[in-house]
Amino acid sequence: KAKEDGRNRYRFYDTTMGETIRKKLQVEHEMREAIETMEQFELYYQPKISLRTGAITGAEALIRWNHPKIGTVYPDDFIPVAEHTGMIIKIGEWVMHEAARRIEQWRASGIVPLKLAVNLSGRQFGSPLLLHQIRTVLQRYDIKPEYLEFEVTESVSMISLTESLKVLHQLRDLGVGVNIDDFGTGYSSLAYLKQFPVDTLKIDKAFIMNMLDDQDDRTIVESIVSLSKAMGLKIVAEGVESIEHVRLLKKLGVDYGQGYFFSKPVPFGQLDRMYRNNLVKMKTLRESERREA
Ligand code: C2E
Ligand code: MG
Ligand code: MG
Ligand code: MG
Repeated sequence: KAKEDGRNRYRFYDTTMGETIRKKLQVEHEMREAIETMEQFELYYQPKISLRTGAITGAEALIRWNHPKIGTVYPDDFIPVAEHTGMIIKIGEWVMHEAARRIEQWRASGIVPLKLAVNLSGRQFGSPLLLHQIRTVLQRYDIKPEYLEFEVTESVSMISLTESLKVLHQLRDLGVGVNIDDFGTGYSSLAYLKQFPVDTLKIDKAFIMNMLDDQDDRTIVESIVSLSKAMGLKIVAEGVESIEHVRLLKKLGVDYGQGYFFSKPVPFGQLDRMYRNNLVKMKTLRESERREA
């Protein structure tokens, strides 16, 4: 059953079984058409903020399907179908190209590109095409791998742990960043983490959103933070919705935050404006600090 939320999201799943199956087939059919040109898809971007300086340090690419009749369809409502049918491989390739194109666009206009993060689902992570796709993208847009990063969840277990470790090492060898997304929700043992060649943990938004009211969630956040610090990993908190969240996260020593408090995911043009304004603001701040020193 589709989960409820405040947004007026289109639901593919309806009450009766027959409806469900029919809609699913319809989605599949429409998706198959839509991925021919990819024109109905758009990447939105949500900034990641340094909690220490307030600077925008990167952004996560989040896909939207602008359906001609339905309007915006959110990833939770179509990525599972794309996964199931394998169409995610083509969609995922487009996402990488699109992000790389934006990085190249910033570079060409003379500003330091933001690091853009692309989500990988299980099937993509396990795909033998993944490395080839990434190499092709890096070459075609001629971008430095450090501007691109990938978010994978703990439960990408389409493949064995040994296989996963191999892929993670290959990604690292390419020079792209790798983050563990939704950390804390999966079942991977903390001991595995030591073997994972990753840079960053993203604490799942469920813990962040509840940590002010729920002592258990707060304890989980605290342990993830101290664990990450001990292992030299950077931490991003997702689902930062209020100033109280920011205050507590700063107190706990969390490096980066992402969430509606700073910005919801926005179209590229809006991210670009935000980033340019932020660059000016940070420069002014640095200059005034220099004058005072
Ligand atoms: P995710 O990677 O964990 O992304 C974070 C989700 O939390 C996004 O939902 C984002 O809009 C939402 N979010 C951000 N800040 C807040 C906040 O302060 N409060 C709350 N309540 N939510 C917040 P979205 O965009 O609907 O994406 C859902 C999931 O779909 C993503 O979770 C990711 O797993 C997947 N996804 C999105 N884009 C792609 C893609 O291009 N490829 C693949 N394979 N998966 C994608
Ligand atoms: Mg993510
Ligand atoms: Mg996440
Ligand atoms: Mg998620």
